[in-house]
Amino acid sequence: MTDEKILTRNFDRPDSHTLEVYRETGGYAALAKAQAMEPAAIVDEVKKSNLRGLGGAGFPTGMKWSFIPKDHPGPVYLVVNADEGEPGTFKDRYILERDPHALIEGMAITARAIRSPLGFVYIRGEYVEPWRRFTQAVREAHDAGYLGRGFDIVVHRGAGAYICGEETGLISSLEGKKGWPKVKPPFPAIKGAFGKPTIVNNVETLACVPHIVNRGAAWFAGLGTKTQGGTRMYSVSGRVKRPAVYEAPVSVTLRQLIEDYAGGVSGTGRLKAVVPGGSSAAILTADQIDVTMDVDGLKAAGSMIGSAGVIVMDESVSIPEALLVVARFYAHESCGQCTPCRESTGWIYKMVHRLVEGHGRKDDLDTIVDVAKRGAGTTICAFYDGAVGPYISYIEKFRSEFEALVKK
Ligand code: SF4
Repeated sequence: MTDEKILTRNFDRPDSHTLEVYRETGGYAALAKAQAMEPAAIVDEVKKSNLRGLGGAGFPTGMKWSFIPKDHPGPVYLVVNADEGEPGTFKDRYILERDPHALIEGMAITARAIRSPLGFVYIRGEYVEPWRRFTQAVREAHDAGYLGRGFDIVVHRGAGAYICGEETGLISSLEGKKGWPKVKPPFPAIKGAFGKPTIVNNVETLACVPHIVNRGAAWFAGLGTKTQGGTRMYSVSGRVKRPAVYEAPVSVTLRQLIEDYAGGVSGTGRLKAVVPGGSSAAILTADQIDVTMDVDGLKAAGSMIGSAGVIVMDESVSIPEALLVVARFYAHESCGQCTPCRESTGWIYKMVHRLVEGHGRKDDLDTIVDVAKRGAGTTICAFYDGAVGPYISYIEKFRSEFEALVKK
């Protein structure tokens, strides 16, 4: 397993956000190389690299790019999802703040691959400094001629809604409409922003692209597992000695991340549970941490890698109280279009609140799990299925803690 820093290699350099420093470490060499390549060859290289989306869904990136209809008169748009709102996740902001040109170069290469003249970057509204740094970097890239010659970037700030991180909700918001998700199909690659074919990719995903072009698909694929190439940035927070963003190959285990990278469990020093991929991922127990932190490894463990936001809980953490925080979040952030999501998230929050307050009834736990399961798979977007993961897993894996709160 490599220790080489790839995505984070510039982070600790002074003025790492500037064009000057980016160029000193070989920045924009990949774009020059890509400009001499046929678009189809770039798509092919990214397919072979096994790069998968690093925002949440983990879809193979090159395959997504190839869904753009070949005969479409255009324009085709590239949209970057920088609306990083998944609780426990804070890695994209580091790229925007400390290495913004990596994203710009990745976008310019991707634009060539999908033949797009215009890219939009939708930045989370609360990310003021990342937005400022990224906007400044766009200006620098423009002045240096990397942008404005066949491809340009529009920066758009969100206004604080979690659901605008869902790709169709994001597109609606970008179009100036209410940020409501839409039924798929049609997928954005067929009918996306302003009704045109659109590729939506995450910040970190596109920051990988210059490295793939520079060093080759085989090298990138070799860094990871059989089905996912490269390294990725894990946001590690909660009860660990050194909470931070850590870059590691996707073959790293959860145990290695907690013990070797983050210095081990803090608080009581004894691990109780871990959320491995942002708040929507099913919780894991202390005996499940030898899992590989890639898409397939977490899926096999009954959870998901999602946005790779790792939240560590030591033995002193109350799981019902942790679920209350999560349930309040989903009740607040549901956009309200779908009845199962709108009603269940609000109702489950009230039920968990009642339990935590000591007013719950014996059969509440089964009722919550039953209600959660009934709504799964019936809604417009994946938001509700994401909420169901914690509702069910917290209760099923730590049932005795919830039962202890129920009045006899
Ligand atoms: Fe909105 Fe929830 Fe339906 Fe998604 S699942 S569209 S968030 S109501």
